[in-house]
Amino acid sequence: MFSSSLQQIQGFVDGIAASIAVIERQDDGNDQVIACNRFFYQMFGGNNQLTVTPPFLLKDLIPRYNRLEFLDRVGECFESGQPLEFEQAYDTRDGTSWWRLSLKPILDEGESVSRLLMTGQDITKKVELEHQLKITSSRFASVVEAAYDCIITINQRERIVLFNKAAQELFGYHEEEVLGQCIEMLIPERYRPDHSDHVERFAHSPITSRQMEERTRVHGLHKDGTEFPVEIAISKINVGGMVEFTAIVRDIADRVRLMDQLAARASRDHLTGLLNRREFEERGAALFGTAKATGTPLSLLMIDADKFKRINDTHGHSRGDEVLRVISNVGSTTVQHRDLFARIGGEEFVVLMPETNREQALAMAERIRKIFDQQAFEHDWQGDPIPFTISVGVSSMRHGEADESIQAMQKRADIGLYRAKESGRNRVEFNP
Ligand code: GH3
Ligand code: MG
Ligand code: MG
Repeated sequence: MFSSSLQQIQGFVDGIAASIAVIERQDDGNDQVIACNRFFYQMFGGNNQLTVTPPFLLKDLIPRYNRLEFLDRVGECFESGQPLEFEQAYDTRDGTSWWRLSLKPILDEGESVSRLLMTGQDITKKVELEHQLKITSSRFASVVEAAYDCIITINQRERIVLFNKAAQELFGYHEEEVLGQCIEMLIPERYRPDHSDHVERFAHSPITSRQMEERTRVHGLHKDGTEFPVEIAISKINVGGMVEFTAIVRDIADRVRLMDQLAARASRDHLTGLLNRREFEERGAALFGTAKATGTPLSLLMIDADKFKRINDTHGHSRGDEVLRVISNVGSTTVQHRDLFARIGGEEFVVLMPETNREQALAMAERIRKIFDQQAFEHDWQGDPIPFTISVGVSSMRHGEADESIQAMQKRADIGLYRAKESGRNRVEFNP
């Protein structure tokens, strides 16, 4: 053929940083490469050196695993006269390279197409990036979906844009029911008015992640209208110039229940369920403060079971416990609801009675004493009923005295109690 024009073509294709070849269809139907650059060899995994020089048969250079598709496409282009594109991967010494190949017919003066221009672009980087992105996003998706905690993302307009499986389970909504909806639907009504302000403030704060305030318990709102305690950590991210907020929400119902149990256990006496000494001191101080501030009367009873040692010795310790529970049950149903009834020692109890003067306190002490003395209470005894009595010391608050305190009142009631014991037990003694 016209060797000068072939040289021209070769020179042209050598200068381009893409894989280029001119393919010519022979009369026998075989496709021949009549010009190509070094990238064309590299594409097939060859080295930079031209091992064969054009013209050569196209099929001789294409690796077996790609040959059929490649030749089919070339044939298709010759037959249709239309440009087309396809992608192929080739194994090279450094791994796999991806190429986007485009075939373009070169029109002769006549109408028939006998040559094609093939250009190949190395898209390995792009494919690898896409692959990486796919891995990253599917990893992200699996982490989000498999997360034990709820993950909820909202946009700046507080619309929910992500709601993972854990969130669906905890809040009772299906993803479709919440996506695009306002986050308020997951928040109990009383918190809603402030929520937008919080979001707004957080959006403009330099802090990017924080725990939702811990002073008060935070609650979520279930689809069925019930509330549950949650712990929430929020973070904000910038997505293409728009701020998004992601909340990690953890269901802490179990923890809250445990904390409440522990708190109750710490404030209650194990045997009787009455307030313990520590809790009595704390709540008693508060009642004392109120009485002092309002000038209202306040009285205190010290109750001690008589000859309790003997009950234990005669009936056994566990029946002694039963008596203590009787004192607790009967006592707490007899005193007023506002009164504090506590077990402050083995068989010692105290009752602090707000808005109760000396006469009223004595009447109450006497009433309790009588109930036990006469066994005027219902109790399903474990064995034979155990008769027992109590002694009570009573004191009332001395308003206006500088050193008056709950401890001073207890001390005076104790002296009253001692006198009651001295003078025969099963008695009430007042010690102002
Ligand atoms: P008094 O009339 O002078 O108060 O006599 P008492 O025997 O009740 O007095 P004391 O304080 O000497 O004895 C109290 C007894 O209470 C001693 C102790 O074994 C018993 N006790 C203390 N705590 C418990 C308890 O939790 N269960 C039982 N069953 N007995 C207890
Ligand atoms: Mg005692
Ligand atoms: Mg006693």
